[in-house]
Amino acid sequence: MKLTKIREGKAEILVPDPKEYEKEDKFDPSWAPVFYNPRMELNRDISVLFLNIIRPRRIVDALSATGIRGIRYFKEVKGVEEVIFNDLSKEAIELINENIKINNVIGEVFNKDANSILYEVKADFVDIDPFGTPAPFLLASFHSVIRGGYVGITATDLSALVCSSKSSARRKYDIICDRLSFSKEVGIRGLIGKAIREAAVVEKAAIPVFSFYHDYYYRVFFKVEGGAKKADSLLSRLVYYYECPKCGYRDKSVYYQHVTCPKCGASMKAYGPAWDGEIYDKNMINKIKEELVHFNYLSTYSTISRLISLISVEAEYKEPYYKLDFISPRLKRNVPPKDKVIKCLKEASATHFDTVGIKTNKNFEEVIECIKVN
Ligand code: SAM
Repeated sequence: MKLTKIREGKAEILVPDPKEYEKEDKFDPSWAPVFYNPRMELNRDISVLFLNIIRPRRIVDALSATGIRGIRYFKEVKGVEEVIFNDLSKEAIELINENIKINNVIGEVFNKDANSILYEVKADFVDIDPFGTPAPFLLASFHSVIRGGYVGITATDLSALVCSSKSSARRKYDIICDRLSFSKEVGIRGLIGKAIREAAVVEKAAIPVFSFYHDYYYRVFFKVEGGAKKADSLLSRLVYYYECPKCGYRDKSVYYQHVTCPKCGASMKAYGPAWDGEIYDKNMINKIKEELVHFNYLSTYSTISRLISLISVEAEYKEPYYKLDFISPRLKRNVPPKDKVIKCLKEASATHFDTVGIKTNKNFEEVIECIKVN
């Protein structure tokens, strides 16, 4: 394998030389023998920030590829004593071994199926960063993490989660769905709902403490607590969201059923089960903000700063966002400027999920009024 050295955060990493694996001057990280995607740098950077708050000592990086994630955690997170690296690919294992030597990392390297290693080791932070869906690894990761520990998951299969593909949503996440206008937020809520259900199988409660959408993926961090009762309480907050395709009215219910819109009589679209609780712990957002000042060496620093600032405002509003360019045409109105609608609602904000979305706890009628007057 022809390699090249890159620097990300405080790590120097050998990765497959993209030039060697180009096709017609184009390169996709999945064409190389070992996967390294620079577009995931922000994902790794925010994970480094998050881990500096929770301070794990023992980490499992269950799908390591080049090892960059675990290596960065070892070098950039205070208090990490050991990282367990794992990948199914033999070529990845060779590269991880070289990379941990270059970076003086203390760790063990395994060449197993992620589910197998996760049933063998315990850790206080488990990282699941797969191709596509994390669903096949959720149960084992909640088994591996100690009570009071954390699990971080990435999902890049947004077509399933936002219900562009109904059949994938059903297969991977056991979600019954139609595509709703606030699909970007409902997708992360569907992912969280699936994780909560998997953790509940091993009588653990997976509490989402920091979640975000960026570029083409979701990333969610869960605090994992023990106890069937806590798991039951999270399960009781899973719902089906309903939205009327004709007038935009929305509702939710703990049951999946055929719902007729009470406003206009059309048949409503549905998505669920999905998590209806908080997707951030506000305390955690503040801590991430505070932590960020120590990380001005990150090349994504200003993007992260903007993202966290927006998230800290939108976290005040629990209900999924309203998409202005979906509702306005149904009222036979032009799409009003977002800022004007926010000002009219008074308690509302923009959202990082969608540039034409607004978050508010005010009800549908109040949102409609503010669209109409603008
Ligand atoms: N975490 C890496 C990073 O931040 O650069 C990227 C990981 S890459 C998206 C997914 C990796 O999972 C690949 O290296 C692949 O070989 C490995 N993989 C796929 N299926 C696996 C399985 N069942 N068990 C262990 N590793 C697996």
